Amino acid sequence: AIAGSDKKLVWLRGSGCGGCTASMLNGGDPDVLSALEKVGLEPEYHDEFMLQQGVFVDGSLSGSSDHNSRIRLSELLAGGDYVLVVEGAIPDGPEGSGRYCMSGAMPFKQLFTEAAPGASCIVAAGTCASYGGVSRLFRAADAAGVAFGGTSRLKGAMSRYGVDNKVINVPGCPTHPEWLLLVLADVLSGRDVALDMYGRPVALFGATVHDSCPRRGAYDRGDRDNEFSGGNCLYSLGCKGPLAYADCPTRRWNGASSMCTRAGGPCVACVEPAFPDAFMPFFGK
Ligand code: SF4
Ligand code: SF4
Repeated sequence: AIAGSDKKLVWLRGSGCGGCTASMLNGGDPDVLSALEKVGLEPEYHDEFMLQQGVFVDGSLSGSSDHNSRIRLSELLAGGDYVLVVEGAIPDGPEGSGRYCMSGAMPFKQLFTEAAPGASCIVAAGTCASYGGVSRLFRAADAAGVAFGGTSRLKGAMSRYGVDNKVINVPGCPTHPEWLLLVLADVLSGRDVALDMYGRPVALFGATVHDSCPRRGAYDRGDRDNEFSGGNCLYSLGCKGPLAYADCPTRRWNGASSMCTRAGGPCVACVEPAFPDAFMPFFGK
């Protein structure tokens, strides 16, 4: 059902660390380019891969590559009918200018408002793009997610861009490459993606980490570690798994090899709208 789609992928990056792109590139089986090809999604523009640092010509750095990539982006946005992936939050500060995050020569906020109308679907990749994430910690930036604004945890309460009806949030800090690819596949095949009250796909974020944690048996027995060297439940060390909705225990990370609590680290609830501030300190009794 997916084959034959000719959708274009435009991937823009706002205020974030780039970790979600790195996570996407770490996807192994299939790798990201093969997966995109399989679902018929042509990666037409990506803020990092378009060589915006310019190219070396006769030993000096030329800006021509950046210039050309921005021309290409303008053409894509004018043509419409693309899937827009946004990575990173959208700062509004200082004073509504959005200049705390510049993309090329313009505030990212402005670029997003130019890109959003022509998108058939907007996928917020990572917790920054979904809810503001780590970028919210710098209060002066007044950073928000694509459809969830500022410090609000309620859908629409502070939504700034009026695009909520075509946004799918795929949080995680970083997001899981399979989460993103599965959502893109669903979008391109025209399936309805059931979302929870925070705009996340229920199929991926419908149960807590605690529900199927490999240490759940220890939790139920009351066997809780007070030091990181033990093999029991990490609740007393600050684990937020009971509050975190994600399928990490069954999907696992890094080639399905492990996940936080399996590896011995408390879950920090990085998929939640209130991450990170409401879950700090991450570790400790
Ligand atoms: Fe980086 Fe996390 Fe934001 Fe992704 S969600 S851009 S990994 S800080
Ligand atoms: Fe629940 Fe965390 Fe204990 Fe796992 S380690 S059982 S997620 S409290």
